[in-house]
Amino acid sequence: MDYQNLLPLFSNNELAINFLKQKNLLKNSCLCTACQTPQNWTKYQKTKDGFSWRCQNRTCSRFKLTTSIRKDSFFENSNIDLPKWIQIIYLWGMRGSNKNAATQVGVSQRAIVDAFASLREICQRHLLANPIQLGGPGIVLEIDESCFSHKPKHHRGRIPQQPIWVFGIVDTSYKPAIGYMEIVEQRNAATLLPIIQSVARPGSIIHSDEWRAYRGIQGMGFAHKTVNHSVNFVEPDGTHTQTVESYWNRKKTLIKSMLGCRRIFLHYYLQEFMWRDRFGSRAFENIILHMNNFYSL
Ligand SMILES: [Zn+2]
Repeated sequence: MDYQNLLPLFSNNELAINFLKQKNLLKNSCLCTACQTPQNWTKYQKTKDGFSWRCQNRTCSRFKLTTSIRKDSFFENSNIDLPKWIQIIYLWGMRGSNKNAATQVGVSQRAIVDAFASLREICQRHLLANPIQLGGPGIVLEIDESCFSHKPKHHRGRIPQQPIWVFGIVDTSYKPAIGYMEIVEQRNAATLLPIIQSVARPGSIIHSDEWRAYRGIQGMGFAHKTVNHSVNFVEPDGTHTQTVESYWNRKKTLIKSMLGCRRIFLHYYLQEFMWRDRFGSRAFENIILHMNNFYSL
């Protein structure tokens, strides 16, 4: 969906509503909760959406009473106009900053933060329902841990943050590499090996540094090659972990441009990043598809 086609939806309420009905993000039919007959779609100026479902069954206790067109939808608990919502989803897809999005859409930054968070939650729910698996026979996975804490620049005098370790696995058969990331409390074998077991497909070849927690990998049935970083960046046989290192760098640059590193935010950002690795090239279309899976209309 290109910008030119979307642009009219950002300001025209009726076009926006038709688009959302077409995408199944608003109901296309709605039964009355009392008499269970289909309600009529009617103009209704008392609501900001300008339309409403209404029971037309004269014998029903809800005769002529209205039901919001947002009922059961992603937008049910939001006060933001539907055309603005479409623009917000578009800007999120384009990685717009909170500040720019607030200005462009004409809502508060707080509203954008909440709206973007609810889109990030869709990413998280999608990944929960479709757990990530990487690699496969003969495919090289690089693994590494990385510390995501950094001193917040503008908050001098605060208690220094605890380091937050993230364990990552990247699949080098994709260009650019796609990954899996998870915040870990500890960097020991008991924590890291089960993650590898659940994410890496059988037959994968795992490249890592010589961190002792990784010694058990061979015993799990994976080929395992290590690089000794005190001697080489790339081993003579070509083993390296440079793909996962540049993956970390890209994600950390994004984190720094966002909110810094509070643990709960970081968790959601990692989910968003993993989602974008896979679906980000058509983020607008894909997030709409994935919203559909969590709202039965
Ligand atoms: Zn009714």
